[in-house]
Amino acid sequence: MKMIFQCKTAIGFLSEIVDGRASFWQRVQFYMHLMMCGKCRLYFRQFKEVKALAEQDPFPIDKLPDDFFEVMEDSMQSRKS
Ligand SMILES: [Zn+2]
Repeated sequence: MKMIFQCKTAIGFLSEIVDGRASFWQRVQFYMHLMMCGKCRLYFRQFKEVKALAEQDPFPIDKLPDDFFEVMEDSMQSRKS
């Protein structure tokens, strides 16, 4: 199946989606991608968790998900390609 929307594009939209700044069409494409892509679903879930943590003061770094850095690293690598 041809991917209409690539991971790096989806990840690029993340902060707009979470902040509610994305357009309707961006949201539709983003969620369609999430339905097909387990990796981005995981990344999106963790992004929201981290954002919620980041709004706490002081930042509770010990509460980050165990595989957070692993997922971040994967997404950085997929951005480069
Ligand atoms: Zn993806």
